[in-house]
Amino acid sequence: MHHSDITIIGGGLTGGLAALALASKGFSITVIEGQAPEKIMNDAYDGRTTAIAYASMRLFRKLGLWDAIAHVCEPIKDILVTDGKKKSRFSEGGISSFHMHFDSSSLNSTSTKSKEDENRPTPISTPLGWIVENATLRTVLFKAITAHENIHLHAPARRTHTNFSPANCVTRFTDKNGDEQSVTSALTLAADGKSSQLRAQAGIKVNHWKYAQTGFVATIAHQDPHEGFAQEYFLPGGPFAILPMTDKTMTDKILTGKMLADNLAMPPPQHRSSLVWTEKDKVAKNLASLNDDAFLEELKNRFGPYLGEISLAGPRFSYPLSFHLSHDYIAPRLALIGDAARAIHPIAGQGFNLGIKDIAAITDVLDKGRSVGLDIGNMNVLDEYQRWRRFDSVSLALGTDILNRFFSTDVTLIRKIRTIGLGLVNAAAPLRQFFMKQAGADVGTLPSLLRDDR
Ligand SMILES: Cc1cc2nc3c(=O)[nH]c(=O)nc-3n(C[C@H](O)[C@H](O)[C@H](O)COP(=O)(O)OP(=O)(O)OC[C@H]3O[C@@H](n4cnc5c(N)ncnc54)[C@H](O)[C@@H]3O)c2cc1C
Repeated sequence: MHHSDITIIGGGLTGGLAALALASKGFSITVIEGQAPEKIMNDAYDGRTTAIAYASMRLFRKLGLWDAIAHVCEPIKDILVTDGKKKSRFSEGGISSFHMHFDSSSLNSTSTKSKEDENRPTPISTPLGWIVENATLRTVLFKAITAHENIHLHAPARRTHTNFSPANCVTRFTDKNGDEQSVTSALTLAADGKSSQLRAQAGIKVNHWKYAQTGFVATIAHQDPHEGFAQEYFLPGGPFAILPMTDKTMTDKILTGKMLADNLAMPPPQHRSSLVWTEKDKVAKNLASLNDDAFLEELKNRFGPYLGEISLAGPRFSYPLSFHLSHDYIAPRLALIGDAARAIHPIAGQGFNLGIKDIAAITDVLDKGRSVGLDIGNMNVLDEYQRWRRFDSVSLALGTDILNRFFSTDVTLIRKIRTIGLGLVNAAAPLRQFFMKQAGADVGTLPSLLRDDR
């Protein structure tokens, strides 16, 4: 029987980062993750990229992880949101008046700062966010977890049962050798994803529905540089996003050495973007059955010519999309974080950013509780976490749900209303700034790990 202050079920992006945040405050942590680390860190496991909001970046920076990410992530300088592809900035027809254009320089303008914002310095060079490959994030997290003396990682290992009692909680799990083990803690965190079994075992109810949409994800190589430009088109099947990634240079040392020795010209760096293409399930089924060449032809019809010739630069991934919202985020000696608390539509790229806010909030709450001698599994301590996170979570979860329904339709009247709406928001600088602040997660009372302390 092991003992830790906190046991975390799930060592995905949320569980991994939570372990590091809590360990940085001196808590001893056990992480139980179902998959082997080598599998999770492999490109073939998760082909997605994550748009990290600038408030979220501060957590990585404060934990000393940002240096390992900064040189392999792409800053987002501009975002163009358009209703349908035809009126994008780059295709025929030029700039439509019905679009929203967010640029990082207007984010830093002081003319429309609210009173709350005045105390919050935002450097002129702040981009709108950063695009990072999930495989990179997972690798950085696993390396840091393995090296941390306060964290015990069991992976691959599966939680089988957790017994919650007034004194503690005992988690039973099967370790990588198939042996039964257990760990006692004052608190268990459920970071086991949107279908959380731990949440179900604790009897916490959840609202969930399927979107009847699938998100296709792939890395696209293109002829011209993207210059930090992200695009999102709202098409009838769902949002279609092209997100800027870092260029890929040849990294094979043996091949590079051979080419240099043979005096051969090195290939130019490959310009890349990450595609998140949402389609209704019926169309998605047909798309999924296409071979790469046929898929690429379909893709070209939607992608447009603005980045020159395009090709697939890796495998295609598909994710069935669904909505999950837990009624409670806490129970005695249990707190839900990340997708276990709520899983939202990727239309605004905010799912993991919400998880990061959970992590920063629970770290503050538990640190404060312990400093005044309270039991960290006590409901009085956990209640502060729930109050802090619930409003933000519910409003964003429902907001993205409504946004997706409103934009994933071709009904003429709705199309007219939304295009006018886009134009109005674009014309009003304070409104645009409001949306950029929301997307940057730099709103509300921020936990200490997300604050800009400079
Ligand atoms: C197409 C797409 C694009 C997205 N883009 C963005 C974006 O740009 N920005 C953003 O912020 N978010 C984005 N998201 C959302 C983001 O990917 C998720 O919010 C995030 O991955 C959730 O991480 P998690 O660790 O909470 O859950 P999960 O990734 O589901 O991890 C749960 C972990 O728990 C483990 N586990 C489960 N059960 C057990 C058990 N019994 N024992 C042991 N381990 C167990 C699993 O193995 C897994 O590793 C996107 C999502 C999709 C689908």
